[in-house]
Amino acid sequence: MPLKLYNTLTKKKEKFIPINKNKVGMYSCGPTVYNHAHIGNLRSYLAADLLQKTLKYNGYKINWVMNFTDIDDKTIKGVTENYTKAADNNDLKKYTQKYINIFKSDLAKLNIEKPDFVRATDKIEEIKKMIKKIVDLGFGYEKDGSIYFDIKKYQEKYRDYGKLVGENFMKGMKFGATVNADEYEKENIGDFALWREWKENDSNIFWENENFPKGKPGWHIECSAIGADKLGDQFDIHSGGVDLIFPHHSNEIAQSQTASGKVPFVKYWFHSEHLLVNEEKMAKSKGNFFTLKDIEEKNFNPLALRYLCLGAHYHSTLNFTWQSLEASQNALERLCEFMKSDESRITNHELEIEVESKYESLFLEAINNDLDTPRALAIVWEMIKSKEMSYQNKKALLLKFDRILGLGLSQVKKEKLIIPDEIQILIKEREEARENKNWKRADELREVIKKKGFLVEDVESETDIRKL
Ligand code: AMP
Ligand code: ZN
Repeated sequence: MPLKLYNTLTKKKEKFIPINKNKVGMYSCGPTVYNHAHIGNLRSYLAADLLQKTLKYNGYKINWVMNFTDIDDKTIKGVTENYTKAADNNDLKKYTQKYINIFKSDLAKLNIEKPDFVRATDKIEEIKKMIKKIVDLGFGYEKDGSIYFDIKKYQEKYRDYGKLVGENFMKGMKFGATVNADEYEKENIGDFALWREWKENDSNIFWENENFPKGKPGWHIECSAIGADKLGDQFDIHSGGVDLIFPHHSNEIAQSQTASGKVPFVKYWFHSEHLLVNEEKMAKSKGNFFTLKDIEEKNFNPLALRYLCLGAHYHSTLNFTWQSLEASQNALERLCEFMKSDESRITNHELEIEVESKYESLFLEAINNDLDTPRALAIVWEMIKSKEMSYQNKKALLLKFDRILGLGLSQVKKEKLIIPDEIQILIKEREEARENKNWKRADELREVIKKKGFLVEDVESETDIRKL
């Protein structure tokens, strides 16, 4: 079953065929590092990680690149307000390093593989070069010291501006005024800034530019330049949250295709849906957000968040509640307990192989069907409950599945099941009751044993024992 992914560019679920045979280039828009990432942001990285784990499981090698937006207005505001008013480029680096470190530690706690991280401020030369190229080609112009991208000109040549939003995006649209800010509204398709001239309130944060006035790059150009530098003019996958489809990703496409002259810039666009609180998007600006630290302070395992996110398809919104996090933590604990349990059971070998491969292909079918994790989790639980497989083989298969799920199950230390004498006596007594077909007494004893913290289960002629 080949991997199929929903592609925002074509609005279709498509068979994944990489540009180069086995090596996949993937770029994810990283966080703005002026503050802690919230768990909504983290959901988008969990989705990207799920995708890269799935690609690896399917045998591909991945080159996964992620930027740090360490240069935008909010970051400059952060450093001048919280660090020093006279902040310069070095202060900006120090200030953002703190949040970069926290972000990296959050990813590690969520079992998200480390991508090849790139700070925007480390790629200023590449950014400047790309801007120069766009201007030289006639698709950028200077106005009041800043450099803007000429959308009208782009549209005349490439005719696909905003295609990521929808084929009819440009129908009836008017070309508006230039926009000298990092973000702008959907209705406004004013030319966006590639390079923004240094202003007094930027403190001492700026970069010299041989071709244009000193200043700083616009937001969109950093991803185009880093993507091209690390992955080439064209690559396989680009990911981000759905809010980035417009303007950020639409503008990235316009810039990159202009600079390289190659279409398409990216083959598959992968967008994950939002995490909500009270049915509203979790956002820093709304103040309705939680960080991973908040979760840990309430004694939750960060991986419970991973489990929670796996429970919803990446393409659906997910409303966050503490109750649902608790239910996810319970489910995760049950999986960990299962990994720790130590039992043996005699099974029919041939039947077992058949059942095992059935579950493996069902799991892969679900995952390869545009990462259907809710279905994949249902298969995990079905497999665990199966009467036809031994514990050892179930565990081995679960570990294999966990290469995609990333729930850290291989880290669970196996505990040798120690059954106290008192329980052993009760079990023996229960077995005798069963032999004598005294089912009532056997059930009573099961309850007594359960109250003492052990679960007995009869599987055909065997008795399994597990710690509760
Ligand atoms: P930012 O740090 O704001 O640039 O966002 C980093 C990533 O998080 C982007 O891919 C956003 O699309 C994504 N994102 C922002 N808010 C949410 C949310 N509530 N749920 C899921 N993803 C989000
Ligand atoms: Zn980006």
